[in-house]
Amino acid sequence: MRVVVIGAGVVGSAVAAGLTRRGAHVTLLEERYPGAGTTSTSFTWVNSNNKIPEPYFELNHAAVRAHHALGGQGFFATGHLECAGDEAHQAELAIRLERLESRGYPAERITPAQAIELEPDLAPQPEGTEYVYFPEEAHVFPAPLLARLLSEARAGGARIETGTAVRDITSGANEATVTLADGSTRTADVVIACTGRWTNMLVDIPVLDTRLFGTVTNGFLASTTAVPARLTRVLTTDRLNLRPDGGGRLLMQALDLDEAADADTPPGDEIGAEMLARLPGVLTGTTGARIERIRVGQRAMPADGVTVAGFTDPAERIYAVATHSGITLAPLLADLVAAEVHGEESPLLAPFRPGRFTDGVAPAEAALALKAARRPGQQ
Ligand SMILES: Cc1cc2nc3c(=O)[nH]c(=O)nc-3n(C[C@H](O)[C@H](O)[C@H](O)COP(=O)(O)OP(=O)(O)OC[C@H]3O[C@@H](n4cnc5c(N)ncnc54)[C@H](O)[C@@H]3O)c2cc1C
Repeated sequence: MRVVVIGAGVVGSAVAAGLTRRGAHVTLLEERYPGAGTTSTSFTWVNSNNKIPEPYFELNHAAVRAHHALGGQGFFATGHLECAGDEAHQAELAIRLERLESRGYPAERITPAQAIELEPDLAPQPEGTEYVYFPEEAHVFPAPLLARLLSEARAGGARIETGTAVRDITSGANEATVTLADGSTRTADVVIACTGRWTNMLVDIPVLDTRLFGTVTNGFLASTTAVPARLTRVLTTDRLNLRPDGGGRLLMQALDLDEAADADTPPGDEIGAEMLARLPGVLTGTTGARIERIRVGQRAMPADGVTVAGFTDPAERIYAVATHSGITLAPLLADLVAAEVHGEESPLLAPFRPGRFTDGVAPAEAALALKAARRPGQQ
């Protein structure tokens, strides 16, 4: 089977690798360079902690297991420690833990002493703080993950063309045709659009415009300079989320500040300063840390917030995948999408077909609902 995959973010790279595992002849077309999109500006926490509705939870939970099976360089199976200090966070956590327990998702309430055993540099937390450890969760470094997926695809014979923008895809009875920016065309048995937040430029699937939807799609991510503080896992608290960022750096995210995250405006100094002010209250040894880099990440967010995966045309020549939580989902999507284009439908993907949007989901209303539903610890 000849397959053209469009987009070398984590999703397209994984799908290309998955297809070569099945012996497909794959061409991966990328407008800029691998990781040029959302994949390089992500918190990269591998989890199904707060995923609603249930089919989306199941998909993400299966994906967490797929990450453990893939393993490899840049994958850290160190779990996640959550500290809930304020009342609202604790109330939400209680409901979430009940739901996760009923779904068989590993989560352990632990004592302050056990939390310190996990993270010796955890700063003293306010009296009454609740601690939960999620042992199955993990984090990745995006570049090594991309490198592994692309190198597997290459070893399986995939051709990777960067600097190649696709302008149009058309479906025919026997093949699909992509038209490139220079006017030339390519044909394949199936074309798969993995173009993240640009998906609606190529296929009829509504993804939220990151210039319009503020905190639903946009979030600050700040990397510190190297600090003499130990952190081995994702650590989430009421006001600051952290993960190791390599070489002693920490990656910081503060969801309540994201209101100011604008797709077209570089972050002001006050955002990093506020995150740094919160940092010593979470991790000791971080006084004097500085911001090395701060960016606005722009999510690839289908209009109703959950994954889209499936054929978009009656002839089944054009397939599209667009999703938030793509870091978590990519290793699983690699196999499921490759199976689907070879005619093996996946029950896990059945609830996520593109056709649901033709039933009248209104993107603007769906986005407002997503915004209202934001919860502590959400990535
Ligand atoms: C702030 C933030 C925090 C996040 N945290 C997490 C997290 O903790 N855990 C998690 O699982 N997920 C997280 N995510 C989401 C995750 O990062 C994304 O879902 C994922 O990176 C999307 O990958 P992608 O391959 O679909 O898109 P992208 O990485 O955007 O890749 C799409 C690629 O397609 C290319 N392209 C676009 N149009 C064309 C065209 N016409 N022709 C050729 N190429 C084209 C682009 O150049 C790009 O390289 C986060 C996202 C953000 C913004």
